[in-house]
Amino acid sequence: MTTALITGITGQDGAYLAQLLLEKGYRVIGLIRRSASSDVVGERLRWLGILDRVELKDGDLTDISSLIRVIHETQPDEVYNLAAQSFVAASWHQPLLTGTVTGLGAVNILEALRIIRPQARFYQASSSEMYGLIQEPVQNERTPFYARSPYACAKLFAHSMTVNYRESFGMFACCGILFNHESPLRGIEFVTRKITDGVARIKLGRADHLTLGNLEARRDWGHAKDYVRAMWLMLQQDVAEDYVVATGKTSSIRDFCRLAFEHAGLDATEFVRTSPSLLRPAEVDLLLGDASKAKSKLGWTPVKSLQEIATEMVDADIARHSSRQ
Ligand code: NDP
Ligand code: GDP
Repeated sequence: MTTALITGITGQDGAYLAQLLLEKGYRVIGLIRRSASSDVVGERLRWLGILDRVELKDGDLTDISSLIRVIHETQPDEVYNLAAQSFVAASWHQPLLTGTVTGLGAVNILEALRIIRPQARFYQASSSEMYGLIQEPVQNERTPFYARSPYACAKLFAHSMTVNYRESFGMFACCGILFNHESPLRGIEFVTRKITDGVARIKLGRADHLTLGNLEARRDWGHAKDYVRAMWLMLQQDVAEDYVVATGKTSSIRDFCRLAFEHAGLDATEFVRTSPSLLRPAEVDLLLGDASKAKSKLGWTPVKSLQEIATEMVDADIARHSSRQ
């Protein structure tokens, strides 16, 4: 039986990846950090009905001793490093924590693997945010990076170090440069989920408006379930390489609002307000990915459209709010 270790298993992608690997017959180990609210930590895994099918080991990406212990105990064949301080806006408030977890944390796990389990296959969750101030209108694996936030700087460091460990030590280490991907399990602070949660509140009469920041920013949005499939495919290849994972379509925050409100029978222009307090110190105006390499080498294609994603998210948020009478 193949054993996989997932850092960030309690997050959106970790939960969907755990579900995929369980379906494939893997033994799934998840790194989980201690929390005073431990009853809600496994919420996403519970939502997918797999909480009791994964083995959770306590540890933290910033504590290499915990990583060494977990890797030594579980001897994983595949390691997916999804853990991060993943919210761009928060990275200006906590730049050092973001650098420590999102940047150095990746090296902690690479180093622990190099020493005790160098044959394990390693996946690093790189991000389209690394393109930042885009240097080409459509971004692929050869497009130069231009980080625009402490989060992007930290991801760029982790990305470069993963490539460096592959080239220096011959480790099977891949970076997936994933463009934004969403689902009903997306953190509520991210814009799509904030919008679908807002739509649900308004629909149920629990709010009368939704306040957002920059409505003109454009993202290449896919579904998390499609994107974790690409992560797995990368680790099944003969050669470790880096891949862009994207849909090749870009839409604005305003477009997403329209889709989400329309699905609930509402007109977004009546309910959406904007506030300068939600603008970022530096913005990523446009992301649009070219996933031709993932398509040709991995045979990967996204399945869900943005309309389907918005619909699924709005329905899930209405159901969540309705059950909390
Ligand atoms: P989430 O924010 O949903 O999940 C982040 C995970 O990291 C959580 O499980 C969190 O644990 C864990 N974590 C945070 N800090 C630590 C730490 N110090 N030690 C151990 N675990 C920690 O992110 P997503 O699932 O959306 O994304 C997965 C990865 O992919 C992230 O690295 C993200 O930056 C990256 N990415 C995401 C994209 C997207 O659109 N979703 C796009 C490109 C890249 P806890 O539950 O305890 O907080
Ligand atoms: P990001 O691409 O990883 O930063 O994902 P987010 O979902 O956090 O943000 C996507 C885009 O939405 C960014 O350009 C934000 O500036 C924009 N945006 C506009 N209003 C909001 C808001 O209220 N919250 C968030 N999170 N983003 C917003």
